[in-house]
Amino acid sequence: MKIIMASNNRNKLKELSQIVPEHSFVLPEDEGIDFNFDETGSTYLENSLGKALALYNMLKIPVIADDSGLSVPSLGGEPGIYSARYGSEGGAKLSDAERNLYLLDKMKNIKDRKAFFVCSMVFLINEYQFFTAQETVEGEITYKPAGENGFGYDPLFFIKNFGKTAAELTAEEKHSVSHRGKAGRVIADIIKKHF
Ligand code: IMP
Repeated sequence: MKIIMASNNRNKLKELSQIVPEHSFVLPEDEGIDFNFDETGSTYLENSLGKALALYNMLKIPVIADDSGLSVPSLGGEPGIYSARYGSEGGAKLSDAERNLYLLDKMKNIKDRKAFFVCSMVFLINEYQFFTAQETVEGEITYKPAGENGFGYDPLFFIKNFGKTAAELTAEEKHSVSHRGKAGRVIADIIKKHF
């Protein structure tokens, strides 16, 4: 089944397509649709549900949405729901590599490097019927970036079981433990029951 994802993030689309290969996921821009959502929610779930509803209201077809981010408890949970714009407040948007350096700088005197990713995924059939899964994966923030795979904060996110950063893992390895992999598999089961 073709399912449209309420996002402009091609990295998320690629990962979701690998995690749930039985469906074909597309972005609004692939369908010639201009989609922009102002993430004003105070939780991942508010934002993922908001994105899904906004796209559903434009198209009136089932949609999927993913709101995700990195939380570092020793930074009070930052960057959290602001992960995509961290370090860009009021200025030009940083690249992933620049944002990673910004985070490393914020943590230069911090010994407690524990962190976790969160993914809130919503499969919305219509405004009255939707399903959500929110999942996490735990790791530690390294002292320098390593690895070329993945996206975002992956080069800084060390996963103990593999002894590598998420950016040093194959896609299959990352999805076997990741926040998005876990949430995606729950949502895939729900889609299977409904279609
Ligand atoms: P949003 O869900 O569009 O608000 O943005 C999510 C942001 O969180 C991304 O732009 C990345 O910076 C970060 N992020 C989410 N998931 C991952 C991941 O799997 N690896 C690395 N960074 C991630």
